[in-house]
Amino acid sequence: MTAPRIEIDLSKIRHNTQCLVARLKSRGIKVTAVTKAVCGHPKIAQAMLDGGAVGLAEARISNVERLRKAGITSLISLIRTPMPNQASQVVRSCDTSYNSEMEVIARLANAARKVRSVHRIMLMVEMGDMRDGIMPENVEDIARQITTMPGVILTGIGANFACLSGTLPDAAKMTALSTIASDIEAAGRFVLETVSGGNSANLSWALGPHSTKRINNLRLGEAILLGVEPVSGEKITGLFTDAFTLIAKVIEAKVKPVPANVFCADPTLRALGLTAANIPSMRSILAIGKQDTDISGLTLPKGVKCLGASSDHMVVQTLRSHPSVGSELRLQMNYSALMRAMNAPDITKSILSAPAFCDRGVALLHEHAYQDLRGTA
Ligand SMILES: *Cc1c(COP(=O)(O)O)cnc(C)c1O
Repeated sequence: MTAPRIEIDLSKIRHNTQCLVARLKSRGIKVTAVTKAVCGHPKIAQAMLDGGAVGLAEARISNVERLRKAGITSLISLIRTPMPNQASQVVRSCDTSYNSEMEVIARLANAARKVRSVHRIMLMVEMGDMRDGIMPENVEDIARQITTMPGVILTGIGANFACLSGTLPDAAKMTALSTIASDIEAAGRFVLETVSGGNSANLSWALGPHSTKRINNLRLGEAILLGVEPVSGEKITGLFTDAFTLIAKVIEAKVKPVPANVFCADPTLRALGLTAANIPSMRSILAIGKQDTDISGLTLPKGVKCLGASSDHMVVQTLRSHPSVGSELRLQMNYSALMRAMNAPDITKSILSAPAFCDRGVALLHEHAYQDLRGTA
């Protein structure tokens, strides 16, 4: 098989979505699935929709167009505020866009009127992470302006957390966002359909023991794709953390001495009375490098240690067996590694074929995951 490749298990992505959708449903929160880390891969998007996501969200219009070309007809929101020159593309392929600039909203309204459609606007509100969003004190005024513009309709507000400054969502911030929603409604005498509380970093708040107030939507990427809570990095109970596996091929396998400079820098080796020449290590080179992924975001199999990487080579030390040239190593990716690997042209994206789902081992794994979920629900 060709390598490097990413093996993608759609059934695990569907399962992860189903779990999160079910748990959040009891809190009155719907899930919009974010596909930006997988570059709008249509089959992954479809697995998220099959798992119960009410729509998709993307940061880049090129990825939205990829989804539409593949025949995805679900609601798609653009979650990065559009570039002003993209207005007509945005109204053509997205139902909704998140916005924080009046000038862009005016262009969207213009573009929508030209094609006799109405584009849905979500206003992004700045709640402390200081990435994107309108300052809370200005939201009401901007909301009022939008209601006077033909071509656009204000459908909701949203906030984002833990992306730039690491500001975390909490009950006070969610209450504040809920109040902003109610104030806009009271001032404009209409109802906001959606109040989107944030991304995967909101999960521990959303599933917590308190009222979720007006928050009725979350935009989830990482939690669905990798089964982890991004703030703590911990596995979410009942979810798969291995829907994606990166596979790289060994192109050199040799016993080499420890480089002299590494040896000199390590006093523990000298203290043991060892010399550089008498501690040879089994080293292998994998045909993958910094151009392909975030090497520091990879988890290697037990007994394999990363010694370093350059643009096209990753050097590993194997402590037990020595892999043969041409053999493959299976690596797990964090969000940063996944995002870059999915975007790497030299990495094949390989969807596990149907027979793999029928494999007894995989079926058993799924049974366990469901039991795990039932146990904690
Ligand atoms: C990336 C992004 C998300 C999804 O974040 P995850 O941590 O992957 O859940 C949600 N909203 C916005 C605005 C984003 O940019």
